Amino acid sequence: MSTIMKGADVAKAMKETLILETEELKKQGIHPCLAMIRVGARGDDLAYERGAKKRMAMIGIQCRTIELPDDIGQEAFEQEFCKANADRSIHGILLFRPLPAHLSEENVRRIIHPYKDVDCMSAVNIAKVFSGDETGFAPCTAEAVVRMLEHYQIDPKGKKVTVVGRSMVAGKPISMLLLDRHGTVTLCHTKTADLKEECKKAQILIAAAGRAKMITEEMAGEGAVVVDVGINVDPDGHLCGDVDFEQVKEKASYISPVPGGVGSVTTSVLASHVIRGARYLHTEN
Ligand code: NAP
Repeated sequence: MSTIMKGADVAKAMKETLILETEELKKQGIHPCLAMIRVGARGDDLAYERGAKKRMAMIGIQCRTIELPDDIGQEAFEQEFCKANADRSIHGILLFRPLPAHLSEENVRRIIHPYKDVDCMSAVNIAKVFSGDETGFAPCTAEAVVRMLEHYQIDPKGKKVTVVGRSMVAGKPISMLLLDRHGTVTLCHTKTADLKEECKKAQILIAAAGRAKMITEEMAGEGAVVVDVGINVDPDGHLCGDVDFEQVKEKASYISPVPGGVGSVTTSVLASHVIRGARYLHTEN
């Protein structure tokens, strides 16, 4: 019988510390504020935005949405971004991505202040994640995986860790964070020769491929810790992860569900980044 790793429990455990840290900043006259920049109105962006707003309110962090029309031009988009970047009352910027196809994020990745870059767009923060410098901001999802493991007291040190997926927002940074914590990490992708074997040998298996229920029972090792980052829709229209939960839960020692797993921790990580960003920016000024 496996233990279900509940994102809500992890978020709840993080909440008190985040509230205290926010209050501490407010006593110093700093009011942490997150700006979310959204171009258009994609359903998944709106869903994340609602969750993030709720979480920030719970913790006492201000939240602004900068809503831009989906036909906005590159120049106007960059101008709006620069305004938020220069605004001293904003301590964190979350840009919903991917942007519409006619817009490029290249310039704003260069422009964004590294202390406001709470979801790791800039080269500075990417380099910090890859060099093990914890003063940077990892992508919230990648750090949420680490927080989840910590909450359930699962130490990657010395363990065989397999990560499926090598994107810059999920697989690669997750691998780096777990390598920093002394896991022996194998990073898999579509060209991996024997994915089943790589998954099966893992003591900690992280699925971040974006393929509904692709991790089946035969791919999971007995007693493995299985963390599912995927957010997919199955053929019946239901939200599901990359792991076939019903099958794999019979074998895993710990398993995170979708929904209700990693996704529920990301907004708490986002809040922690805004608080840290506010602290850094205040020290800099
Ligand atoms: P992505 O950019 O599409 O990357 C997917 C990665 O998975 C690629 O590296 C790809 O390999 C690999 N992959 C795909 N199919 C595979 C297969 N059959 N076998 C082995 N590797 C395979 O996706 P992403 O942005 O990283 O997102 C991954 C999943 O996480 C999605 O479901 C997304 O919705 C979810 N997500 C969740 C959160 C959260 O808060 N929980 C946040 C972000 C993303 P190649 O490199 O070889 O193409």
